[in-house]
Amino acid sequence: MNITIAGAGYVGLVTGAACAYFGHEVTFVDVDASKLEAIRRGTSPIYEPGLQELLKLGKDRIRCTQDYAEALPGCDIAFITVGTPYLPDGSPNLSYVEAAAREIGLHIGAGYTLVVNKSTVPVGSGNWVEAIVRDAFESRNGHRPNGKFSVASNPEFLREGSALHDTFYADRIVIGSRDPRAVAMLTELYQPIQNQDFVPPAFLPRPEGQGAVPVVTTDLASAELIKYAANAFLTVKISFINEIASLAESVGADVVQLSRGIGLDSRIGPRFLQAGIGWGGSCFGKDTSALISIAREYGKRAPIVEAAREVNCEQREKVIEKLLNELKIMKGRVIGILGVAFKPNTDDLRDAPALDIARRLVGRGAKVVAHDPIALDRARAENTLPGLVFKDNPEEVFADADAVVLATEWPLYRSLPFAELLATMSTPVFLDGRNFLDPQQMQSFGFRYLGVGR
Ligand code: NAD
Repeated sequence: MNITIAGAGYVGLVTGAACAYFGHEVTFVDVDASKLEAIRRGTSPIYEPGLQELLKLGKDRIRCTQDYAEALPGCDIAFITVGTPYLPDGSPNLSYVEAAAREIGLHIGAGYTLVVNKSTVPVGSGNWVEAIVRDAFESRNGHRPNGKFSVASNPEFLREGSALHDTFYADRIVIGSRDPRAVAMLTELYQPIQNQDFVPPAFLPRPEGQGAVPVVTTDLASAELIKYAANAFLTVKISFINEIASLAESVGADVVQLSRGIGLDSRIGPRFLQAGIGWGGSCFGKDTSALISIAREYGKRAPIVEAAREVNCEQREKVIEKLLNELKIMKGRVIGILGVAFKPNTDDLRDAPALDIARRLVGRGAKVVAHDPIALDRARAENTLPGLVFKDNPEEVFADADAVVLATEWPLYRSLPFAELLATMSTPVFLDGRNFLDPQQMQSFGFRYLGVGR
């Protein structure tokens, strides 16, 4: 098939690279020329394990353009994978989706094209995109499109850092459409993943026991709501354990043991029960905010999701409280931060807890010195906070620090020469915001070790 990917970001690149791997002709169309240039050069514009290799494997079937007029004619499936960040009122900014849909409508070719919303968009967006494509088509051609396209929803569930694994070995594929032709095309596209009968790339072996991937076919509105409900549920689970972690600290319990104790209950499950400084990233914040805004639009509230957001915000402030408790005065202090990306194995800084915590610390008069193994260039380029500096080596974060906060659990932070680093600090306070290190061992080095909920 000929596949157009409108938006070569985290989702678009992974989707496009996977489609090329499965033998489809892929055209990336993006407004950002630098991203397209990077793809043409054979490099990935984002850091995602395995993505560069996957793009290389498909390079003969991948084209890039800024021009929809080049990308659309002859296209069987056009994925919309542009960003949907939130607006100040919490609702999603749909202007990128609107622009992409209009361009698709203007340039749809002579045959039938299936337009697929893969961006996370509010309920009703399928109908809305359909109207935009139809109007744009009509404005250019002077007649109605009459069956030349339809719109489906195909929400994306990949996790940055393991996006390729989540695409090739997905938990499920959701297809939202009542148009049998649309469902048939997407089912055909996903057939190798559904049946797991493809030869895996060498760097992405099929997990042992991996079975067929369920395909959930729904109406448009259900598919759109599935995405928000899934993300909201995950945030609730994390915020729940963080709420319990707070209680555990007060009563002298250990939330790590507690998580194991409840996670082994098969009705609950162990994942997303790791207490810490809370969730971040490009999706959880904006998708929970969008869900609340959708509910409001229908005269409803989403109090559980609102509470999850509130607890998450408190988790970040608790870092400051814990440090204040130890250091009493924040003005003039030097605080080190290990890990800036919102989670390991990505260079994504959107809503990164580390940056929020840095802002709060700088706001109280501290100087913050941070390290990240992958996201430093991006962090330096995007930083506008005076008082926040980035260092190339994790060791430099400890020098003269009054406290060090581990904000992102990058594996390399497990093997730092802690005993030596402690000697370079002003005060030996270490706040492990991800309960990542062994408390006893850290204490044996001489650190005043603080975890979350233990
Ligand atoms: P991103 O910001 O990484 O990428 C979006 C891309 O779209 C950018 O390269 C941007 O230049 C491009 N773009 C903007 N306007 C355009 C236009 N009119 N035409 C063509 N390209 C245009 O975003 P992302 O993280 O890939 O997210 C995309 C969507 O997928 C969002 O709705 C997001 O909520 C959803 N999603 C993201 C993830 C994730 O982990 N990142 C997971 C699941 C779903």
